[in-house]
Amino acid sequence: MLIIKQAARLQQYLQQQAERGLISGFVPTMGALHQGHISLIAEARKQAGITVCSIFVNPTQFNDPSDFDKYPKTIEQDVLLLEKAGTDILFLPSVEEVYPTGLTNLEHYELGYLETILEGKFRPGHFQGVCQVMFRLLSLVKPDLLFMGQKDFQQCMVVKKLLEIMQSSTQLIPAPTVREESGLAMSSRNMRLSAEAKDAATTISQALKEIKANLGQQPVATLKSNAVATLEKAGFTVDYVEIANADNLELTENWDGKAPLVALVAAFIGGVRLIDNMIVTN
Ligand code: AMP
Repeated sequence: MLIIKQAARLQQYLQQQAERGLISGFVPTMGALHQGHISLIAEARKQAGITVCSIFVNPTQFNDPSDFDKYPKTIEQDVLLLEKAGTDILFLPSVEEVYPTGLTNLEHYELGYLETILEGKFRPGHFQGVCQVMFRLLSLVKPDLLFMGQKDFQQCMVVKKLLEIMQSSTQLIPAPTVREESGLAMSSRNMRLSAEAKDAATTISQALKEIKANLGQQPVATLKSNAVATLEKAGFTVDYVEIANADNLELTENWDGKAPLVALVAAFIGGVRLIDNMIVTN
């Protein structure tokens, strides 16, 4: 695996590979890698001739500075995992390399409705930061295929919109959420959970499964309030439990029995904010 820290060097190298006709697959990450990330690398390797992973903890997408400071960093282990997974290139830039003109006066993206709900509502500015970094990474890597996790359901929709804004030919490939045996969605943030909090955190996937099991039998409002009660009983402080159309994320109050639905949760336990979601229609 080639580790590249400079944007210009990455661009030059990938240009040469593109000239050889290799299809490129890109997996952007913030490190502290786990099997969820590695599943994206595995998918990229299946579909692309050259697999590029980036590790960059993007300062502009953290609306809470202490969350940025506490973000786990396990770079040595990450390098080993990526090598073992057969990654071709690891892009490991500094903040200056990604944002050469600094972190102020950055561009604004018109994300419309998508930015007013769920993560957009509870983390003001978060998706602007996601777009600012993804614009830079995509402009550098110019991948044919971009692999991202459905674990961050709304993020996938935001990046799809960014690709449209950029008039990019990159194809976004969403990949399913990898879970622990307990049902807990793998996340870099899980490293910050105490054993007790990690145990309690399995309640999120249980609450999502409960919504799925009772959909169509109970009103949407009841499904949501029951899930909130289940989470609070387990010790969570809940930001939201919502049920939305899986195609456009429009929040649903009354299900017509047909629309594809996704249930989404964001909640804090032990000072750590976790998100998860599940498609609840068949
Ligand atoms: P992050 O490092 O958290 O920014 O995540 C990098 C990529 O990995 C994003 O596309 C995430 O959606 C994806 N990802 C994170 N956790 C999981 C998971 N448990 N299963 C699948 N993909 C994931």
